[in-house]
Formats: sequence, C-alpha cells, structure tokens
Amino acid sequence: MSYKFIDGHNDTLLRLDKGVDEFFEGSKQGHLDWPRAKKSGFAAGFFAVFCPNPSTDPTPVVYATPKGYEKPFPPKLDDSYAYQYTNKMIARFLQLEKKSGGRFKTARTLKDVESALEGEYMAGILHIEGAEGIDEDFDALHVYYEAGLRSIGPVWSRENRFGEGVPYRFPHSPDTGPGLTEVGKKLVKECNKLGIMIDLSHLNEKGFWDVAKISNAPLVATHSNAHSICPVTRNLTDRQLDAIGKSNGVVGVTYSINPDMISADGKNNEKTPLSEIASHVQYIADRIGVDHVALGSDFDGTRVPQELKDVTGVPRLMSLLKNDGWSEADLDKISHKNWLRVLGDTW
Ligand SMILES: [Zn+2]
Repeated sequence: MSYKFIDGHNDTLLRLDKGVDEFFEGSKQGHLDWPRAKKSGFAAGFFAVFCPNPSTDPTPVVYATPKGYEKPFPPKLDDSYAYQYTNKMIARFLQLEKKSGGRFKTARTLKDVESALEGEYMAGILHIEGAEGIDEDFDALHVYYEAGLRSIGPVWSRENRFGEGVPYRFPHSPDTGPGLTEVGKKLVKECNKLGIMIDLSHLNEKGFWDVAKISNAPLVATHSNAHSICPVTRNLTDRQLDAIGKSNGVVGVTYSINPDMISADGKNNEKTPLSEIASHVQYIADRIGVDHVALGSDFDGTRVPQELKDVTGVPRLMSLLKNDGWSEADLDKISHKNWLRVLGDTW
C-alpha cells in the first residue's frame, strides 16, 4: 500500500546539471526522480531554487565544541552571481514541465496540486530557498511569480539583504542573531499580497517572530524538526511549534542527517532508524495536533538514513506510522491533506 503524498522540500534541481532528461529517465544518483517518485506515491513537492556558495569560497570550517559543533556563516553571495544563478535554476525548473510530455506540471493553483494527487501528473511547486536572487524593488519577485513562484524562504543559513538564517550549531537555540531587515519585512508583506508562501525553515528565531507578527498567512516550516528532541539550530522550539499550530500552519518533518536534525546526539548517523523520524511526527502532533504535521524530506539537499535510502523509503515510513497506530484519517492529513489546507489558505 502506498500513500499519495506532498513533500515540503527537495533540492533535486541542483542535481540536474546535465539537463532535466535525467529526472525522467531515472538515475542511480541522489534521492528523487520521476520513476522512483511514481513508485513511491510522490504526487507533488516543493522544488527549491538554491544558489550554492561559489566554489571560490573557502571550504566551510566546522568547529568542534565540547558537546557538538559550530559552523560559521559562509560569505554573503555576490548580487550578480545570485541573480544569474537564480534565473538558471528557474529556467531548469521550467524545463521539467516542457520536457515531461504531460507528466510534470508547475503548480500555480490549489487545483493543480489536487489533480496531481488524483494521478494526472506530478506537480512541482516552485520555491526559492534564500532570496539573494530577488532585488529590493521586488521586480524579480513579480517576474518569478508569473513564472510560477509560490513559496519563498527569505534566507538560507547565511546573511542576505532580507535577514539572517540560522548558522548550523549543535546543541544550540535557534536564537542566533538579529531578525528581518526593513526590506525583509516588506518582502513578507509583498508575498502576502501575491499569495506566495513564506517558509521559516532556515530563519533564526528573531526572524521567525518577525514573520509571525507581520504575516497574515499560516506559518510554515517546510523542512524542520522538533528542537526538544534534536537541539540543532535548524529545528523548532516548543514555542515556535505552538505559534505554527495557532496560525493553522504546518511543519514538514525532514529526514536530514547532515546536518543531523533527527537524533538527540546530533551525530549524523547513517544508521538512524526510521522510528526516530516517526518520533518527530509524534512529538509535533502531540504538541500542536496532527493537523499541523506533514512531510518535508530535503531530498537531494542532504544525506538521509540508510533505512530510508531515497524517495522509495517514504512508503516504509508511512507503514511504520500506521503500525504505530495512526488512523487512516491521520495518515491522509500527514501525507497530503495538511499541505493542501495550508496551500489553499495561502495562495
Ligand atoms: Zn534547506
């Protein structure tokens, strides 16, 4: 039995350097492609446009601390590099639909996602992870909206003109620096006007509360887990979870073990069992209700536990949740209904 599901985050576009044909033909590399997605019930997902730090950047250093590690911010991205790279990634995303022969569609409306769940095609939700490619006048934002952009994480785990992400630290609170800049606050309002979802996953805690105060949409973290279980900066504290629940938002539970966002010891263990991912689902549902927990893999943007392997492991995770006693109605919510509700309320 496999559940149709909506996934909160993948970085698969980054992998398709040699063109998008590889996505449809399938690959032994990475976590997600069309054949494996079809087999697994992946009906729709957020496809991230991300600008990697240029290879000229010094290799990121990770400092060991008595109980864990700290990773400093990479340098800020150069504007012209970010503009050019963002265009390149969005063009690549648009190729997916063009070359799909009807198998892939850019999700512009809720109906597009619903039809994907009925099996008509795979729906890709265009997401920007770290908005360095967007100028202060929001010209690019408006152009990208027309191209299909429906979700933005204002920052990745570095600084930009809109605010500061969380640097990777373990164990550490997500309260690591200042909140959104003035133009960052304007970006939130502009996204509200357009109906673009704001993703809180890489924001530091002050930035999170700024969005919570300004935004009129449900609060969403597309790929983050519970800080109470795994105290890494990228995870959400109980107070943050409560705010997401109160706003009728959602958390996409991530499978990332690099950085480790699952285990209490933060040790990037490949042997992390699926039951530890299920514990985050359980914790979030116990804290704020099953209406506010969903899936947010981070496929092709991280390493995942061996037991999951790639997108074909998601049915095993769903079976495990079923064996844990979740009802069919709850599993429908976790797999797709919660995402549908939030997208409907936001777009
Ligand atoms: Zn991410």
